[in-house]
Amino acid sequence: MDAPYCSAFAALLLCAASAAPAAGAPKLVKLIKAARLIDSSGRVVTNAVLVIEDDRIVSVGGATPPPAGAQVIDVHTHMTYFWDGASGTRPRGNTRPAAVSMVLAQANLKKTLDAGVTTVRDLNASEYTDVAMRDLIRMGAWVGPRMFVAGYGLSITRQPFRPGAIPGPATADGVSEVIQRVRQQIAAGVDWVKVFGSTGSFEDVSQSQTFTYEEMKAAVDTAHALGKRIAIHSYGPDGARDAVRAGADSIEHATDIDDATIAEMARKGTWYVPTIDHNRYYAEHAGEYGFATGSVQRLNEFVARNLETARKAVKAGVKIAMGSDAVYSMFGENTRELGWLVKAGMTPAQALGAATANGAALLGMETSLGTLAPGFFADIVAVDGDPLSDVNVLIDRVRFVMKGGQVVVDRTGH
Ligand SMILES: [Zn+2]
Repeated sequence: MDAPYCSAFAALLLCAASAAPAAGAPKLVKLIKAARLIDSSGRVVTNAVLVIEDDRIVSVGGATPPPAGAQVIDVHTHMTYFWDGASGTRPRGNTRPAAVSMVLAQANLKKTLDAGVTTVRDLNASEYTDVAMRDLIRMGAWVGPRMFVAGYGLSITRQPFRPGAIPGPATADGVSEVIQRVRQQIAAGVDWVKVFGSTGSFEDVSQSQTFTYEEMKAAVDTAHALGKRIAIHSYGPDGARDAVRAGADSIEHATDIDDATIAEMARKGTWYVPTIDHNRYYAEHAGEYGFATGSVQRLNEFVARNLETARKAVKAGVKIAMGSDAVYSMFGENTRELGWLVKAGMTPAQALGAATANGAALLGMETSLGTLAPGFFADIVAVDGDPLSDVNVLIDRVRFVMKGGQVVVDRTGH
């Protein structure tokens, strides 16, 4: 087989993929030669050769044993939140039908792939447009990251941060309504259940618990009984405490988690997705959103407290996965969260692990995603530089992305 070699990048991963159909077989076989292949635990294989058939890796050869993952998973996005940046408009409050926003949101899918992210967990969308998007990508009709979706996030009737908002179809009050709404989401084909367990969103930095412990417990038990995992959004210590006690699989955002709850998360194996960077993004884009005066300072304080909580969680050994909470104009910045994870005390290798093997484990996909090994999906990101010495290389210098054996980004110049 012809396997053209490409100039390897300065330090890390990969060079070119060479595609050649195997004789007499319909399978598409690709070879990738990598100057250095880096794994989710920071192990390096030099002069590695990966063989890919169709969407899977069949072998990984090199001077040292096969490594795990160099694929990036973002476990908290809002892919259907689309804004075209038209002058005189704001990201929020557009009146387009949800299906129109979904079609336009293909731009978000592309920006996310360009950032090297080949799998996302998407946590809240209208009219099951996330389910449709996931299926279009799965069918090959659209190009985008592999999606795990949640449909409507459940809210209580009166969300103090949305004054005047008309309660949506996933509003629930009391245990029986919660059970019904969770079942509705699962019936509609979601992969995950999402619950808004506290206030706090966009410029609102309040963190009051919304659903009671009993309601959260009902949501968790119903999701689990139907074989689904559940993510609970919870800013502030109260929502997080009850979400962890109730048995949520992942806690999103969660500033100011108390020490006892952090210890319980470590003991129970509850995932923490800090999403620190999205409040940095809101602070930098306060004008674009039309946020009130003073919001930048409040958001920056929020970032500092979120980082402090993440630091405690890292120290306590809580399992952490990388989530961006990307919305609207934030797509493409998905992996900037990695920089915060390093600031929170992770080594670059551990931060990479949060975005690869940990993301896969959170999704329950640890036997097919997050690792570069035979039988796994051939999702590969090549960067120009060494992310183990500077994690920003993965943020700014992605040159090549393969998803399921297909080259979806190629800026190698070959
Ligand atoms: Zn979110």
